[in-house]
Amino acid sequence: MTAAASARQILTRLHEVMASRMHAQGKLDSVVDIIGDSLSSEVCSIYLLRESMLELFATKGLNKEAVHVTRMAIGEGLTGTIADKVETLNLAEAKAHPDFLYRPETGEEKFHSFAGVPIVYRERAVGVLCVQHVEPRRYEDVEIEALQTTAMVLSELIANAELVDEEEARGLAEGLTGTQTLNGLALVKGLATGLAVYHQPRVQIEQVMADDIEAERARVYRAFDKMREQIDHLASQAEFGVGGEHEEVLETYKMFAYDEGWSRRINEAIDSGLTAEAAIERVQQRTRMRMREIDDALLADRMHDLEDLSNRLLRIVSGQLGTAASQGLRRDTILIARNLGPAELLEYDRRRLKGVILEEGSLTAHVVIVARAMGVPVLGRAAGLRGIIREGDEILLDADQASATVRPSAQMAEAFGARFSKSREKQAAYAELRDVEPFTRCGTRIEVMMNAGLRDDMSSLAMTGADGVGLFRTEFQFLVSATLPQRERQTKLYRDVLEAAGDKPVIFRTVDIGGDKAVPYLASNQANDDENPAMGWRALRLALERGGLLKVQARSLLEASAGRPLYVMFPMVSEPWEFDAAKAVFEEQLAFMRTKKKLIPDAIYYGAMLEVPALAEVLDILCPKLSFLSVGTNDLTQFLFAADRANPLLAERYDWLSPSIMRFLRRVTQSTVGMDVALGVCGEMGGRRLEALALLGIGFRRLSITPAAVGPIKELVRKVDLKEITQRMNDWLADPSVNLRDELSRWAADRDIETD
Ligand code: PEP
Ligand code: MG
Repeated sequence: MTAAASARQILTRLHEVMASRMHAQGKLDSVVDIIGDSLSSEVCSIYLLRESMLELFATKGLNKEAVHVTRMAIGEGLTGTIADKVETLNLAEAKAHPDFLYRPETGEEKFHSFAGVPIVYRERAVGVLCVQHVEPRRYEDVEIEALQTTAMVLSELIANAELVDEEEARGLAEGLTGTQTLNGLALVKGLATGLAVYHQPRVQIEQVMADDIEAERARVYRAFDKMREQIDHLASQAEFGVGGEHEEVLETYKMFAYDEGWSRRINEAIDSGLTAEAAIERVQQRTRMRMREIDDALLADRMHDLEDLSNRLLRIVSGQLGTAASQGLRRDTILIARNLGPAELLEYDRRRLKGVILEEGSLTAHVVIVARAMGVPVLGRAAGLRGIIREGDEILLDADQASATVRPSAQMAEAFGARFSKSREKQAAYAELRDVEPFTRCGTRIEVMMNAGLRDDMSSLAMTGADGVGLFRTEFQFLVSATLPQRERQTKLYRDVLEAAGDKPVIFRTVDIGGDKAVPYLASNQANDDENPAMGWRALRLALERGGLLKVQARSLLEASAGRPLYVMFPMVSEPWEFDAAKAVFEEQLAFMRTKKKLIPDAIYYGAMLEVPALAEVLDILCPKLSFLSVGTNDLTQFLFAADRANPLLAERYDWLSPSIMRFLRRVTQSTVGMDVALGVCGEMGGRRLEALALLGIGFRRLSITPAAVGPIKELVRKVDLKEITQRMNDWLADPSVNLRDELSRWAADRDIETD
């Protein structure tokens, strides 16, 4: 008899039992008889979770008196270990296993071999099915598979007969693995608590046994076709935030999607009488087990890919297609994903979404830029999270410390709560500074503006009392859109933003796309193939050559600003002529609007970003053309140090408070002295207190920073005496042999200035 035929025979017998009118206990008793028989095993037992213990519910071969008497804690003995690790055990000699535990009431001392599989319900082990044999022998693969299939049937029975309640399953999960800590890279700092929700929920298998095998086969074929179509489509399209890593994943997806072996195994499982869903899961279980035996990190990674794909196939076949966003968030949530697109993140309810943990991600990934704008902390590069976090687990996300605590103890949660409320109190104290103008102790008014990029960010303007928007990243609209935003959509956004800003100025930066901020619809192979995207065909370089793009944006900005001043700034200007060319595009549109007697802005103020070091050498030529100059320290420092800002390995290597950056920036401030140009900083650096202190000390009087930093920086400004800090910085720059970070921390502490 073939393996499939014998499996089908078992399933048919189980089917009869399940369909009978017997009560649940009777069914369990019949199941152990069937399995014991079919596997010619002397013993077959079922343990189920009751009151957080695994209780013997049914047995063939052990003492019947032990039923409902023998109980085991999770992690205790072989059965407890299977539930604890949600893992299959197959042992020729049970006693040789370190976790073996002898229970005299069962009379199991005479049995040598042992195999057990977890009974899984909603991803938790809620019981164990095991067989034992007098002869020492390892069970065959087909036998283990029969056990696993039976466990699936049992989980369906358990759900229907309500033999295990969900609360209890959750309780078990706590006992399952206890508290675990996950480390990663802090992509957006902050604290958050909530329950884990996977972006792509696992499919719940409703029916295990097939009514019509051919119909199930047809369903799987259709699902395979659809999945292959999807993967081909994904691969043919540059996705948001692609990097080499992403492409590699897609290649692997493709390989698996077309893997004959995989579809054949699923087909065989269907032959044995399973539904399409159960067959996919069955094969996945087998692969998981095989992979566990191979200790290879690279293979484990590929295993995640196959797991992803298998879930995709399950979603297609079962029609459970939505992401967690489409199902709606019901509680405070920490969202878990391998990676996300910016648009996907924006689909979530902002009131419930408290934090994000990603397996991948980097500091400049678009999803991270968007999360920062939403004020949602993000922990990235959390390798192996799927082995640690389960749906519904409580999580304390501490992105400040680049870690997350999964299933915390009550004490941990309490301590975290105390820290959390302290940080909220601080935030509330900053909110009180909203209407306080940031004058230094010596009476100089510092401009504290905020960075924005989404319409929703504008509410922060009133909340923080920032002086305006010093950097509006217009490319966000391009990044979250599946197609190139048309003129009407752009105009509407800019108009809404200006309306929300009231009398406060908004500096619109023209699109900074290309390079690593690739948008698929611009399909510029040139940009996507750049070897050094940050130094490639991006930002103004791209916009000037794609004249239409800048023209449309210019028209939108001019129309939206009709009747009020327009502030516009160009990114990545490397030579003054690029500024002239960009300005000419705006002036041309303006002239056209004049001829059409259209309403135009009251005034237009043009500015440039200083991000490319070469520009600093020609400020005498450039500045007379400008109303303002804004230093983009994120890009500038990556070019000064020749260190990719997106590379996590370099993230902490160079310090903003280094002599080279400080000297460079002071030369910039000095060369604009006496010029009629407003000078500011709009990179992340300005939002950090020590760095802001240093910037004030070398002559900057305008900072545009992330909204969350506006309160802390205002507070700092009010405690600073500019003469003092300028002197300190001058002294240090003359002899920068000491560490400026330490120096400034001491200097600030002496003056009761908080610097984190
Ligand atoms: C910068 O480079 O400092 C900047 C503000 O621009 P972005 O971070 O959007 O590149
Ligand atoms: Mg930049």
